[in-house]
Amino acid sequence: MRYLILSDVHANWEALQAVVADARGLWDRAVCCGDLVGYGADPDVVTTWVRQNVPEVIRGNHDKACAGLEDLDWFNPVARASAVWTIETMDQRNVDWLRALPEGPLAVDGFEIAHGSPLDEDEYVVTEQDAEQVRPYIDSGTCFFGHTHLQGGFLCHRNGIMRLRRPPAESATETFELESDTVYLINPGSVGQPRDNDPRAAYAIWDSERRLLTFRRVPYDVSSAQEKILRAGLPEMLAFRLASGK
Ligand code: ZN
Repeated sequence: MRYLILSDVHANWEALQAVVADARGLWDRAVCCGDLVGYGADPDVVTTWVRQNVPEVIRGNHDKACAGLEDLDWFNPVARASAVWTIETMDQRNVDWLRALPEGPLAVDGFEIAHGSPLDEDEYVVTEQDAEQVRPYIDSGTCFFGHTHLQGGFLCHRNGIMRLRRPPAESATETFELESDTVYLINPGSVGQPRDNDPRAAYAIWDSERRLLTFRRVPYDVSSAQEKILRAGLPEMLAFRLASGK
């Protein structure tokens, strides 16, 4: 089975459309590691697409906040303003669907999906030390996660931890053959708000039979996504950061 692995779409319809077009013919089934909404200006159209096309979805911290399950005092002012805007804007049926999303980790098909980490949906896994700490809690051997908006991951060997690198700026893909006796923590990157200095939308394809993982990057119509954010009256920095991928 070939899986389309999505995370952190953040209500960016232009980025999601570019990913769907780029991935055409490459996948059979889709999963999403959370944060469908928050920050971007298209929460309804993104949520509706995910509802119709992605059978395995877990919630992210922004989905929780926008569904009224989180105290917004925990959020910084920009995230809070976008959550308030999203709550006021979204169709109630989509809000209800977000509220019912399960918390990760969720076992799928020999792998699992989590938002922050398999231990805590709000935890950021950024360093080798972070990966080392959560490694004993990965039941399946392969865990896809999001939350950091940094494409890449960790290969946890008996002898230590190595990083899986994302595609460099001049390339659109980076492929790895995963070993069967090794634990992997893999972040497909953020579709709608990359923060790894590469503004291209990020996602991954996982071919579970051939054990091939491909990180992919695709350019999208950043200016349209920015214009919508500004027109909606969302904080300006949410538009500006899309151009730099920071
Ligand atoms: Zn996020």
